This record gives sequence, structure tokens and C-alpha cells, in this order.
Amino acid sequence: MDDSTRKELTAWLEFYQELGIEGFYRRETVAVGAPPSPASAQPSEPAAAPPKQAPPREPTTGVATSAPRPAALKPATFPTPPTMVVRPPAASFNLFEAAPAPRTGPETLERIREDLGDCRRCKLAPTRRNIVFGVGNPHAELVFIGEGPGADEDEQGLPFVGRAGKLLNRMMQAVGIEREDVYICNVVKCRPPENRTPEKDEVDACSPFLYRQIEAIKPRLICCLGAPAVRTVLGIKEGITKIRGRFYEFGSAKALATVHPAYVLRNPREEKILREDFEKIRDFLKGR
Ligand code: SF4
Repeated sequence: MDDSTRKELTAWLEFYQELGIEGFYRRETVAVGAPPSPASAQPSEPAAAPPKQAPPREPTTGVATSAPRPAALKPATFPTPPTMVVRPPAASFNLFEAAPAPRTGPETLERIREDLGDCRRCKLAPTRRNIVFGVGNPHAELVFIGEGPGADEDEQGLPFVGRAGKLLNRMMQAVGIEREDVYICNVVKCRPPENRTPEKDEVDACSPFLYRQIEAIKPRLICCLGAPAVRTVLGIKEGITKIRGRFYEFGSAKALATVHPAYVLRNPREEKILREDFEKIRDFLKGR
């Protein structure tokens, strides 16, 4: 092997090492016209020697890749190995299958739930019983977003099934909205201990899934129930009693802030403001 071939080969070997491929073999050379050897009649092994062509090109976007081009590598001095086989690190490894396949098609709630999996992304995971993903019409015009699951929700894996949920149902019935027609979820999908307010790191970990849910459903109206939902969806930090009952822009949808039903359970005299806001929701959906 002449010096320049050796250098080129060395550069390629270092390039593959950068990719985690460490074993190589050299295929037996068969003279033209000679009968094939038994070994060469077997299904072909992955080609080991790099093709005589330009090494892989970096993307033209100007973004650097982690694997440098072979030509830029310093030639190594290890001897030519007796055999060269591209040996994958794992039996099923394939260099081109290692990268996750790009996803196509529209976002769906099923896909988001699948991506959430048995989530352990924040410190609420160890104490939850069930992930409360959300429930309802996947094409709902109206999405309700609460703060987080309580004890009943954690137990059943469904949002708004406790006392606050019953009040929510009553408010919907009062203005002629069917629960099956809406979608209901929370800012965080696991119950905070003692029903405390979700903390910032928990909201940061969980809210990307909420945004994806909204994107998948594409509602006309989002109703934020309580301050944590308002902060997460609208980024508004003012007190809920100051901003409730108003409509805000949220992309191509509108968002309405109102009090959480649990707040009304603690302050029964405030039920009328929740009722007022539900009447605004009804009027908006009817185009009034
Ligand atoms: S609250 Fe959300 S981010 Fe945290 S563990 Fe549960 S599903 Fe995962």
C-alpha cells in the first residue's frame, strides 16, 4: 500500500471511529475471471473500504457537524489491520437507523401521549399514582385548562372528576355546553403533593406537552381556570380576580381567564363570577 493510500485509509478509519465504529475487515480480493471462493458466495458483508470518492460533505447551512471530515484529520500511525469489518456496537445497530426518523403528518393527542410515556421529567413523578393527560373531544372548540390533578384525579387518571369537576360540569350545563364536546386538561399532569401550586420547574417540564395538546386540538377558545393556567398559557402574572372575564389572543384562538372552580368551592359567594364568565364562553362560541 503506498503512502498516500495509507494516509487516506487512516483518515477514513479515524472518521469511522468518531462515529463509534471500531472494528474493520478487508474483503478478500477476487481476480477477474477467477472462480468465487466459498466465502465470497455468502451474503455480502457491509463494504468496509471507503469508496474512492469525496468524503461526506458538511451541511451547507453553516452549522458545524460533530464528525470532522476525514481530510481534516491527522493521519494515525497504527498498522493496517489484517481484517476490516464494520462491526456495529450492538447487533441491531445501523448507522443510518440510529438517528430518529423525522416525523411527518399532523400532531395528534395519541402521539403526544406516546411521547409523554411513563414521564419522569420532573419531581412530581415519584408521588403520583396516575398521569392525568386530559380527556374529551380531540377536535373541541373549547379547551379548559386547570392547574393540576387533585386526589380524585390522581386516583382515576382523569381531570376534574372531584368536587371542582362537579362544579365545572354544573357551570357547563347552566350555559348549555356538553362535557363530551370540550377537552379538559391541566398545566401539570401529575398531582402536586398536598395539592400545592405547581412549581416553576414542574411547569417548565410539563407545559410543552400542554402546548402540543392545544396545537393538536386547535380550539377556538381556551378557558384558563385559575392563575397558574393563566400564567402558563398567557404569561400574565396579575391577580386572577383583576384579569378574569377578559379575552386574550392566543395564536389564532382566543383565551379567556377565569377563576378555578376550587376557588369558588372555598368562596361560594364568588360562584356568580364563574357563571358570568361561562355565559361569555357560551356567547363567544355562538358568535355573539
Ligand atoms: S408533571 Fe408532567 S413533566 Fe412532571 S412527571 Fe408528570 S407528566 Fe412528567
